[in-house]
Amino acid sequence: MTWHILGAGSLGSLWAARLARAGKSVRLILRDRARLKTYEAAGGLTLVEQGRAQQYAIPAGLPSNAGPISRLLVACKAYDAEAAVQPLLPHLALGAELILLQNGLGSQDAVALRLPHARCILASSTEGAFREADFRVVYAGHGFTWLGDPLQPAAPAWLDELEQAGIPHGWTPDILSRLWRKLALNCAINPLTVLYNCRNGGLAEHPAEVNVLCIELADLLRRCGQPDAAEGLHEEVQRVIQATAANYSSMYQDVANSRRTEISYLLGHACASAARHRISLPHLNSLHARLKSHLEKLGLPVT
Ligand code: NAP
Repeated sequence: MTWHILGAGSLGSLWAARLARAGKSVRLILRDRARLKTYEAAGGLTLVEQGRAQQYAIPAGLPSNAGPISRLLVACKAYDAEAAVQPLLPHLALGAELILLQNGLGSQDAVALRLPHARCILASSTEGAFREADFRVVYAGHGFTWLGDPLQPAAPAWLDELEQAGIPHGWTPDILSRLWRKLALNCAINPLTVLYNCRNGGLAEHPAEVNVLCIELADLLRRCGQPDAAEGLHEEVQRVIQATAANYSSMYQDVANSRRTEISYLLGHACASAARHRISLPHLNSLHARLKSHLEKLGLPVT
């Protein structure tokens, strides 16, 4: 069965290259004719690992000629996922499976609502990759990808293919808990690194602010039915700040490169969930307002 990959950016290319070199059938779906032309001119996808570049001539096409799709890896940013999947709806085979790689929460539900007859598998990844140039991606940090389906606990048979492709992964019945936990870690760290213009380690100078955010986030997680994700949150946030002290957060990097952030699916989703549950989280709301005003001043989208 072919792995259709929607979004040949950082993570999409990292998955595509590893699956292709393991001999799996892979096909990229690019957004439009111009991108397809650029891809064809490049001659394929290049993955750079430990300084060594290798090109993979993976076939690519447009949504309009995607053919029947049984397995689709959605590797767009959270804010693009729903619109990117839309033109593929007529091409999805009965019982199609989608793997949603988006960070944060909210985009997965938006996609799933459009696809009542397909299976949506959610993913939470700590792998790191970035685009050095068009269709040239650097594998920057080894990590792990958790996969799961909140509606159907049985693991799909194709996990073997990920094993053969050397994609580190695990199947979990608690994927929502993992996504919420990652969202909370992200909300406690990333916006402050943008506002204080610092590396993750710089937050060690703002312990009270980090602490109060963790208290509110843990409260939110419990109210959203995710008590496990709330457990030891503050300690883990402190550990992450220390262990990644020299790193710039993904949101910091987006802002530094004048790229749209995934704010709506992280802090925005947290604040919207709090409002839905009628819980007052003043520090989280104030952080959201400060971040939006900061992005606005820089001319970046606030959603
Ligand atoms: P990225 O490098 O920006 O890649 C996104 C890709 O989606 C781009 O190639 C873009 O196409 C494509 N795309 C957007 N709209 C499309 C459409 N309508 N049709 C076809 N393709 C479309 O993003 P990323 O870093 O891989 O991130 C993807 C998700 O993974 C995000 O939610 C991110 O938070 C998460 N994540 C990323 C990493 C990482 O290390 N990169 C790690 C963990 C999680 P163009 O090339 O034409 O712009």
